[in-house]
Amino acid sequence: MDSSPFLRLRGVVKTFGSFTALDSIDLDIAEGEFFTIVGPSGSGKSTLIRLLVGMDDLTSGEIRLRDQRIDDTPANTRPTCMVFQSLALFPHMTVGQNIEFPLKLRKEPPDGRKAKALDLLDLLRLPQSYYDKRISQCSGGEKQRVALARALAFDPEILFFDEPLSALDYRLRKTLEKELKDLHARTGKTFVYITHSLEEAMVMSDRIAIMKEGRIEQISEADEIYGAPVSRFVAEFMGEVN
Ligand code: ADP
Ligand code: MG
Repeated sequence: MDSSPFLRLRGVVKTFGSFTALDSIDLDIAEGEFFTIVGPSGSGKSTLIRLLVGMDDLTSGEIRLRDQRIDDTPANTRPTCMVFQSLALFPHMTVGQNIEFPLKLRKEPPDGRKAKALDLLDLLRLPQSYYDKRISQCSGGEKQRVALARALAFDPEILFFDEPLSALDYRLRKTLEKELKDLHARTGKTFVYITHSLEEAMVMSDRIAIMKEGRIEQISEADEIYGAPVSRFVAEFMGEVN
């Protein structure tokens, strides 16, 4: 990693009253990386993402993107960060209208919007005829793909995922794991992904951070995670999920 990494966290603390949800997080994420955070429920994963996208304020510490402080910038002026939300599609609108929604917000002209939406359908390997299809007529997997297309329409530099597949059945989850990994390769964007499944993390990620009680317990390359657990907690966490 070079001296000025893409995304850098230093001493990030988040408290709620007397409770410390994040306890001095230091973390560097490289541009284009698929970085996954795993850990038990309540370990601070969602809190960390909320701080990164500006949905909540830090108690102390700093977050830099390309060496610029972003932690004191309001969320709506952080166009680089986008949280993927599959359930936030507008069901009564068409696939095209959903994907174009961010482009409309940015006041892009209609012709350009449609061209971009069709490109995004291609990228997500959905037929162009889906442009006029209603969301309510799409299958679960197709909805996920449309939601991904819409997130990408914001043209984010970093795409965040907070347990996006946890509610899905096994088969669909396996399919979408593969598609997400593939999408990451095709877009070259930085993906920051949260899951409580180490197995899922290992399939998709470049590196994996394991969180415990608001701290990062270990960071490893995905294929080395079983090599040397740094603590009994990590070893037990691995044992539990496999
Ligand atoms: P995870 O996503 O890893 O399951 P969270 O980041 O959601 O964990 O939560 C970490 C801890 O912080 C939990 O103990 C949770 O109860 C607490 N917490 C999160 N948000 C708030 C809040 N707004 N007020 C008080 N406590 C919170
Ligand atoms: Mg969470």
